[in-house]
Amino acid sequence: MKLIYTHENRLLVFNIQNIVENAGISIILKNEYAAGAVGDLVPHETWVELWVKDDSDYDKAMHIIESSCNTINAAGWVCHHCTEKNDASFDFCWHCHNSAP
Ligand SMILES: [Zn+2]
Repeated sequence: MKLIYTHENRLLVFNIQNIVENAGISIILKNEYAAGAVGDLVPHETWVELWVKDDSDYDKAMHIIESSCNTINAAGWVCHHCTEKNDASFDFCWHCHNSAP
C-alpha cells in the first residue's frame, strides 16, 4: 500500500477518492474517524488519508490526482503579505497566517 493523498479538508479527500475509484483503482481510507482525536494528536495526523491497495496503481492514481488537483486548485489565492500561493480552501495563508483577500 502507498499513500497517494491527504488534506485537512475532508471533502477534498473524499472528492479525490471518488475520482480515483471511478478510474477502477482500489482505495483504502485511513484516519476517517480520527477527527475526534483533534487536540490529542498533531493536527495533520488526523487528516483523512487515501492509500492505493495495489502499489502498481500508484503512478496511475498520482497522474489522475495531479490532473484533477490542477482543476481544484485553479481557484487558489496568492497572499498579499508574503506572496505565498494558497489552496482555495484556506481562509488564512499557511505561511504567514495573513487572512485571505
Ligand atoms: Zn502569507
